[in-house]
Amino acid sequence: MNFLALIESKREGQTLAPEQIREFIREFTAGNIPDYQMAALLMAIYFRGLDTAETTALTLAMRDSGERLRFARDPRPLVDKHSTGGIGDKVSLPLAPLLACLGFRVPMISGRSLGITGGTLDKLDSIPGFQTLLSVQKIVAQVQAVGCVICGQTDNMVPADKKIYALRDASGTVPSIPLITASILSKKLAESLEALVLDVKFGCAAFMQTRAQARRLAQAMVALGNECGTNTRAILTDMNTPLGRAAGNWLEVKESVACLEPSGCARQNKVENMAVNSRSRPQLGPRGIEDLRTLVLECAAQLLVLTRKTRTLVVARKLAEACLNSGAPRQKWDDMIKAQGADLNGFCEKLRRDSTAKIVVEVEAGESGFISQCDARIIGVVIRDLGGGRLTKESAINYDVGVDQMAKPGARVKRGDVLCRVHANDIAQAKAAAAQLQTAFALTPKRPLPAPLVVEVIR
Ligand code: URA
Repeated sequence: MNFLALIESKREGQTLAPEQIREFIREFTAGNIPDYQMAALLMAIYFRGLDTAETTALTLAMRDSGERLRFARDPRPLVDKHSTGGIGDKVSLPLAPLLACLGFRVPMISGRSLGITGGTLDKLDSIPGFQTLLSVQKIVAQVQAVGCVICGQTDNMVPADKKIYALRDASGTVPSIPLITASILSKKLAESLEALVLDVKFGCAAFMQTRAQARRLAQAMVALGNECGTNTRAILTDMNTPLGRAAGNWLEVKESVACLEPSGCARQNKVENMAVNSRSRPQLGPRGIEDLRTLVLECAAQLLVLTRKTRTLVVARKLAEACLNSGAPRQKWDDMIKAQGADLNGFCEKLRRDSTAKIVVEVEAGESGFISQCDARIIGVVIRDLGGGRLTKESAINYDVGVDQMAKPGARVKRGDVLCRVHANDIAQAKAAAAQLQTAFALTPKRPLPAPLVVEVIR
């Protein structure tokens, strides 16, 4: 193919034909187009964009660049959720077993952290023995037997996206709505889903900083998902504040398990509200660990309606809540991690420990008042710098570091109360992190109005 002519026509703002798109994806995946030419095309796309037909062709060509998950016919619909990423966003962990208990099959192919946002696979890697790299055959067999799996993309799934994403990362072409849409949906469509819910985040720690940008991305992904035959909806959610009260790989697994315990949130809040180690904890605001539970239930409810298992969201939320409270998803979690090689005794022993990091330091409020800000971006940067995230794709992760017991907006604190705890590898790191974390919190004399978590649904 004359790839130079194709770059020039996109540079001049012309529309590419579906056949041209399919051909360049085939050729690039096969190694027949040099990276410098592909990077030039990506930059032309970044500036000129792609229309709906071009984006659809690109998405489907990327999906078909490798193997897909194929499942036997089964009354349980195949569903999944994708989040654009944030701090403390651990929704996938409790959601997968909850959905399996609600009668779905969940082939959840997840990613790793890059930059400040966490990655589901890194969180799961903190579970002793847990395997995230599975073959297609194992993924399909586990979904059929257990109802859910959370694992990484196999080497042969959507290879075009792997190669293109690495180039986008190195060529400054990541923030392009058609390229993001094609990248995310090509991977989700390779799971052969019936329904998909997208959690598109906006705010200081999100990929999309403003609600308007997040809405544009959500609309593009919802239109394309539906066009490609997967019932797709998106929710826009606030990522100015971390989700839940813990961020950091192992700490998030622990909080996810608490979310799955029947009445786990209530118990967790009660424990953390009691005076521990003689220092008082702030009374939790409306966005304690409850926000995590709300988002988990909302994603499940949207999927129940999308697959017509229930007619209204009100009924769907009640059904999802009753299922979560039954304790069955907690048992399903154990079944899932055991099927993926986890050492259950080692896992339970680890859960019982207050911390697995070498050092834990409390960050105290310097004054009394109501928390008006718990800045997710600052917290994400602190955790990444503690070693909990990646500066480059090659960086090794420290699973034990992080921040927990965060006081969230709306919480009342007295001078000396704990704003959060830092889990670190050594005392110098812990002190540096604690100083930075002080700047993440702001207090006001009056209780601030609660900011809604789910602000919009894009159908
Ligand atoms: N996540 C992806 O998988 N792809 C993108 O382009 C952006 C976020």
